[in-house]
Amino acid sequence: MNSMTTILIVEDDERIRNALRAILVACGYSVQETGNARTALAMTASHNPDLMLLDLGLPDGDGMELIRSVRGWSQVPIIVVSARGHERDKVEALDSGADDYITKPFGTDELLARIRAALRHGRARSGNAAAVYQGKGLKVDAGRRLVTVDGQPVHLTQTEYRIVLLLCRHSGRVLTYDFMIRELWGPFSGCDTQILRVNMANIRRKLERDPSMPEYITTEIGVGYRMIELDTESE
Ligand code: CA
Repeated sequence: MNSMTTILIVEDDERIRNALRAILVACGYSVQETGNARTALAMTASHNPDLMLLDLGLPDGDGMELIRSVRGWSQVPIIVVSARGHERDKVEALDSGADDYITKPFGTDELLARIRAALRHGRARSGNAAAVYQGKGLKVDAGRRLVTVDGQPVHLTQTEYRIVLLLCRHSGRVLTYDFMIRELWGPFSGCDTQILRVNMANIRRKLERDPSMPEYITTEIGVGYRMIELDTESE
């Protein structure tokens, strides 16, 4: 772990802030913190953190506003940490430009996994056409356009492959239906979530050992899909 990686905690509940700081410092991250939106905006500009953990309910404003302001000029990965578990809030945060969303109460392992995924994504934003993604028996070789499970080739249609590759490129993160549709077919395609669902059912039938209990691609109901965290190698 890079000891110079700095995480900005934006959280007005001191108890939660202290708990987050303790976890992050124990993992070797450098931590900055604030309890309000105004200072968070200023600190993001002046300190240039590598990642932001953001509570939505702040005393001087809504976290959603903060995400939109920051996204005007910064690509810093943002993970929303909120007690609001509504699908509507998750979708709004993600579509406003947050990278991920974690609902309180959360486990330490889950939090750290989300942070790793968001940091990796932040570093890999430039993209990597020939990467190899693998984990838990699944291997997706983007250079060779080859997908295998436990060494056995999996035959995907062009659309199914593009969906799997998109999820791999963002592995460990939830992708909203709207984001996926935009990335796959463009903003004016008229494609809807039903097309994604049909394709996903086919992908799971081909990829998963038990399609009813998916190990690789999980559904976040009302929000989108998430590929498990995969290791990435560049070629
Ligand atoms: Ca709060």
